[in-house]
Amino acid sequence: MRVRPGRGRNLLVATTVALVALTACSGRTGSPPGVAASSAPAPADTVNRALDDLERFWTATYPTISDGKPFPPIQGGFHPYTQADPPPPCGSEAGVYQPNAFYCPDGDFIAWDAEKLIPELQTNFGQLLVALVMAHEYGHAIQHRLGVTNQPTVVLEQQADCFAGAWLADALAGRSTAAGGITPAQIDSALAGMLQLRDQPGTSATSAGAHGNAFDRIRALQDGVQNGATTCAGYRADNLPITEVPFTQERDAASGGNLPYDEAVDVLVKDAAEYWSRAYPQLTGQPWKELTVQPFAPGSAPECASPDAIADGAAFYCPEGDFIAFDNEQLGPTLYDRAGDNAVGMLVGDLYARAAQHRRGQSTQGDGQLTVDCLNGSWTYDLLHRDARSQQTQLSPGDLDEAVAALLAFGRATAGTGPSGFDRIAAYRNGVLKGLSACG
Ligand SMILES: [Zn+2]
Repeated sequence: MRVRPGRGRNLLVATTVALVALTACSGRTGSPPGVAASSAPAPADTVNRALDDLERFWTATYPTISDGKPFPPIQGGFHPYTQADPPPPCGSEAGVYQPNAFYCPDGDFIAWDAEKLIPELQTNFGQLLVALVMAHEYGHAIQHRLGVTNQPTVVLEQQADCFAGAWLADALAGRSTAAGGITPAQIDSALAGMLQLRDQPGTSATSAGAHGNAFDRIRALQDGVQNGATTCAGYRADNLPITEVPFTQERDAASGGNLPYDEAVDVLVKDAAEYWSRAYPQLTGQPWKELTVQPFAPGSAPECASPDAIADGAAFYCPEGDFIAFDNEQLGPTLYDRAGDNAVGMLVGDLYARAAQHRRGQSTQGDGQLTVDCLNGSWTYDLLHRDARSQQTQLSPGDLDEAVAALLAFGRATAGTGPSGFDRIAAYRNGVLKGLSACG
């Protein structure tokens, strides 16, 4: 939010990992999806299967985006490296160990840290993420073959994510030899892990910090899943909705630090109430009645016979009493500490949107949850489109990433019930990019 400085990318990593850990600790997830300790293949096998499958996929797909030209296989090979056995040099850059993965255009090779990064990603987020890392690096190789190189890094990164999404769609359709029977929980786990990915020199020659925020990168991945490689191939600086860029200037005007938790909650609740007093009449033609908010301590939630609950019951809308309530001592502060103030905003926003759905007689389950997410996103849209000089609450790009992390924490698919985090992020983004009218 406007009153606090933007977060660095490293903080995003820390908060995302922490949120995943938070989810795991809450008992909603056990071992990482897809990683049955006894039967999981070695990470090296996961990598090799993925690379074989990517070659299959791009051999079939590349001609469709290159006027029929065949796919030139990777010439420089595939290089797992360790601290003791560092990667090959890339052009004029010496091969120095770093816990990452990269594509080197000069040598046309893909290299990855086989000692730390890949095993950790597989352990923490599952095999699918390892495959997606390789798919992303392959995406840079495709980019290089297509001659799309004179674009800002932020565009190139999103294009590589989009190409990875095109491969993911193929895997979801059951054609992959590397990943079969992919579950929504595995995808959500991989998305959480994607927020961690970094590119290092070897792929990019432009400024640091221009890789795109998680909100934009997940959008690109989903674009590839939904619309395929041809759409990805068309990515250019002038046709991508990049939320990161416009805010850098507004952020210059930002000052001060983080709002204290209580004050953040106060600001968010007031803003949501003000937003819904304007939005609900647009949505329904009816006036918005003030909504009571009841913060509570763990174990002493206000009475409600049939709460419409989220976060394992730590927050809910009560249809009988027509109020919202949330755990203001553990849930709220934990979200705030680990993910930032807009993670609390996502909680408040979900509850208000949930109330709006009930009040207009619509469901909050299944597709109804996706409408809740879109409505929540429409509040974000409103926050994003305010006059930068106004005194109202405003968002920074880091806030959108906090929203994505919060949705993954709240919305991770469990046991195949309810929409996946993947679908919830897409619904939220629809509201964020298009506003209330997109939410029906
Ligand atoms: Zn990249």
